[in-house]
Amino acid sequence: MSAQPTLSSGDRTTKTEIRFHNTMSGQTEPFVPLVAGEVRAYTCGPTVYDFAHIGNFRTFVFQDVLRRYLKSKGFRVIQVMNLTDVDDRIIQKSAAAGVSIREYTDKYIQAYLDDRRALNLEPPEHIARATEHIDDMVKLIQRLTEKGFTYTSEGSTYYRIANFPGYGKLSKIDVAGMQTGARVDTDRYDKDNARDFALWKAPKPGEHFWETPIGPGRPGWHIECAAMALKYLGDKLDIHSGGVDLTFPHHENEIAEAEAATGKTFARYWLHAEFLLVDHEKMSKSMGNFATLRELFSHGHKPSSIRFLLASVPYRRQLNFTPESLQGAASSVERLRNFATRLRAEKFLEGSSPAIAERAAKARDEFDRGLADDLNTAQALAAIFDLVRDVNTAMDRGEFRQGDAAPVLKVLELFDAIFAVLRDDDAEKLKELGISASGPTLSGPEVEAIVAERQAARKRRDFAASDRIRDDLAARGIILEDSRDGAVRWKRK
Ligand SMILES: [Zn+2]
Repeated sequence: MSAQPTLSSGDRTTKTEIRFHNTMSGQTEPFVPLVAGEVRAYTCGPTVYDFAHIGNFRTFVFQDVLRRYLKSKGFRVIQVMNLTDVDDRIIQKSAAAGVSIREYTDKYIQAYLDDRRALNLEPPEHIARATEHIDDMVKLIQRLTEKGFTYTSEGSTYYRIANFPGYGKLSKIDVAGMQTGARVDTDRYDKDNARDFALWKAPKPGEHFWETPIGPGRPGWHIECAAMALKYLGDKLDIHSGGVDLTFPHHENEIAEAEAATGKTFARYWLHAEFLLVDHEKMSKSMGNFATLRELFSHGHKPSSIRFLLASVPYRRQLNFTPESLQGAASSVERLRNFATRLRAEKFLEGSSPAIAERAAKARDEFDRGLADDLNTAQALAAIFDLVRDVNTAMDRGEFRQGDAAPVLKVLELFDAIFAVLRDDDAEKLKELGISASGPTLSGPEVEAIVAERQAARKRRDFAASDRIRDDLAARGIILEDSRDGAVRWKRK
């Protein structure tokens, strides 16, 4: 049995078996979608009470790499992402601002979608606002009530987890010592606290509410995702993904809701992205190390460097986000763009060499094997950078022919279908966001690193790249002086 779709002829990658780590089984398993050639995926989107932070975007970039990879393998991807536009914080903050929930969340939804575009995140097929699906949630709660999974208390409806035998199967939480009937009204609670949770919350005085057949109130967070996933993707989905902190209670509760209602397995593969650390601290708003994309952009960091850094560390590894790692990502993107420019612009001797075509094919296989292995982006990138190094060497030695450019460019194309950083459009994107592209002053070590990059370009006689780096630095107020002995001095304008 094979779920691999047929790709165009000449694609060498179709034979690779795709494997993903499934949180449900705790194993890395072959990926076989329910319907051959099609992947139905659900993505937990943001709660739009503020700008999303860089830790959130780690998960969104992972989900984008996942969908782009599946598409590159020929699958038709149907991805649904929710926008949680009603919760305690949104109700409090919109009331404090004296505006409606709609008005308050519109601003952050727009910002989130703009940020996604800046990072080249492809739009999911369906983006679903919670407040536009209240009816679907109410109907799902009614189904659960008919099947005996709910009870009401003071106008709120709760899910009785003791009635769902599989409760805890995703997060492996121990429900043995659980207090029957203990319940929570908050949507986020910790793992030691398996509780009956609110599906529908009665309004507190003065709070916004919806008038519905199950009484006035508003939905809990978990029922939003369950209802919208079932609506757009049917009873069974292939992949459900999110940040690792969503495993419990959010995803555990989604499973309890969906499976109790349908009697079927909700999602077959659960993929969770690890935390992003900022200088070794867990990224969260409560800890104060909160960085929005806009803050990073206005400090001179490019969208492409941020995307590259977030995509470069395999999603199940913690990612430590530092100014140095961002600088490293910027250099990597620069190296790849220069390489692509060199392939397209430089004139080589006529003919072609089988050795280069073979080298390109090997890089392509390694790139594909890396991604097929639970999206090991680090391994995939290593294949690309090894190719860049070898081809640059061949070019410098005069062993590269005009006909060799096409197979190497083809590999870069494949790379960019997933990583999406080769287009030199950072300044354009920042302009669209109304952020000045020049950024603040570069530090001494930052200038040194860029100068070293230019020296390397000169050494391999890539004068187009060398000139571009000099011009970029000039635009940021750094003047280079090349001395006769090959050394470079720099000064600030
Ligand atoms: Zn969700």
